[in-house]
Amino acid sequence: MDLREGVMDNSVATGEPPEAIHLIIKFYTCLLLAGFAFVPAYLVGYLYFFQDPTLLFEDHTFHIIAITAATLEGLFVTYVTWCCYQSSGDPLLRWMTLGFLGFVMIYALHGAFTGLAHSHIWLFLLYGPASRLVMAILLLVGMLSYHQPPDAADQRTKPRPWLTWIGLFLLVDLAVAFVANSQVAGHPAVRLSLEGGALVLSTLNVAVVLLRRFRSPLMVIFAISVTAFALSSLAFILARPWNHMWWLAHAIFAAGFFLLSYGVAQAFLSTRSFSKIYSQGELMVRLAESMAYAESALKELQRTNQELDHLAATDPLTGADNRRRFMARVDAEIDRVKRGGAPFSVLALDLDNFKSINDRYGHQVGDDILKRFVQECLDSIRPYDGVARVGGEEFMILLPQTSLEGARVIAERLRSAVATTSFNFSQQRITGVTVSIGVSQSGRDGDSIEEILRVADQRLYDAKHQGRNRVVTTVKTNLQPLP
Ligand code: GH3
Ligand code: MG
Ligand code: MG
Repeated sequence: MDLREGVMDNSVATGEPPEAIHLIIKFYTCLLLAGFAFVPAYLVGYLYFFQDPTLLFEDHTFHIIAITAATLEGLFVTYVTWCCYQSSGDPLLRWMTLGFLGFVMIYALHGAFTGLAHSHIWLFLLYGPASRLVMAILLLVGMLSYHQPPDAADQRTKPRPWLTWIGLFLLVDLAVAFVANSQVAGHPAVRLSLEGGALVLSTLNVAVVLLRRFRSPLMVIFAISVTAFALSSLAFILARPWNHMWWLAHAIFAAGFFLLSYGVAQAFLSTRSFSKIYSQGELMVRLAESMAYAESALKELQRTNQELDHLAATDPLTGADNRRRFMARVDAEIDRVKRGGAPFSVLALDLDNFKSINDRYGHQVGDDILKRFVQECLDSIRPYDGVARVGGEEFMILLPQTSLEGARVIAERLRSAVATTSFNFSQQRITGVTVSIGVSQSGRDGDSIEEILRVADQRLYDAKHQGRNRVVTTVKTNLQPLP
């Protein structure tokens, strides 16, 4: 019911006609199908009342050609149905294959004995109803096996059952020949029981489809085809050989057979199963579901990719960018400057005497200070500036569209903020953490990434030499070794 609800909600949302109209249209399509299935009945009725009994069309050649075409087509359809069965193992298709094969093997003799129509009328006539009866029986058995689990793959290919059935059909051929040659052949009950049996069993086939509510599109085709078979049997019962009703009966049967063949071809071109074919409505619902699923999976994938991207470009301890991401951002800034953008600046930062902080308070506290330091950096810069951890306690900050003087002001603000911050942890309160910063600006200190970073590093080194906890924007000379 979920699927239907989804469709209905959607229809309400899009101002679709109410559910009652939906039901009426469904009922109307059922009426149309029934009206279509009974088209042969109108023709049979018409001929029954208006046929001129003297009008006959006895053309043996035409009959032989027609039956030959039917036999060849029947063999081809048998093969296609067999292929579908091999692929899906659908038991209904096994019975349909046998139904078509049995029909062809018996009906072919009706054509073959056309020449005996005058000398041996029953040998000519009885193969027709016998073939229709055999097919109707096998189709009915198939109907009763609808929805049964598929046959095992090795069972489908075993030749023995198929050969047994071929033997049985040959036996039917012999039996019909025997009856045709016997005393009872001419008794109307013989032909009537064969044709009547085909009529009753075909009707039962339709009844099973309706009563068991098989609604798949191929079963609709099946039901219409089998209705045609039943009506062709009715026409044969009402007909006399070679009159128009007799030919009409052939045509009705052929129409049913064509339609059923079309169903088999559809099965072949889709799921290879008769029962696992969906209506257009069901397909739309399934498509909508699959699209919704694909969309949510895509969103999830995009989210995961973003997370992975973030992880791949982030320092796990502090959450700052890593060196790779920082370099990429500087590269992008260099390109922007080349296109005429304002220059950018870079800060190289190194926490002072961090080794002794570690020695004094422990490595864990050192880690926490690194994290807090990054937070201080982020608080001091603009959202689009980037902080990166490029070494143990070494960081870099990219300041797009910022001159050296502007960068110095930011660096000074950050330095002073760190120097005056007391880092409070559960047990300790740590003050006196300081940072040295070297500043460089694109263009003025170089055009390549290497130059710009090298100058910033050099000035950082200079800041250390000058006594740490300071910002340096110009290179000093005569540096002494670090204390
Ligand atoms: P200077 O002022 O010259 O920079 O002195 P310094 O002690 O900071 O410099 P040095 O390079 O000698 O030592 C850096 C220290 O930073 C050594 C190392 O223990 C510490 N360190 C590096 N990475 C981490 C880290 O991930 N966590 C912690 N807690 N300490 C780190
Ligand atoms: Mg260092
Ligand atoms: Mg240091």
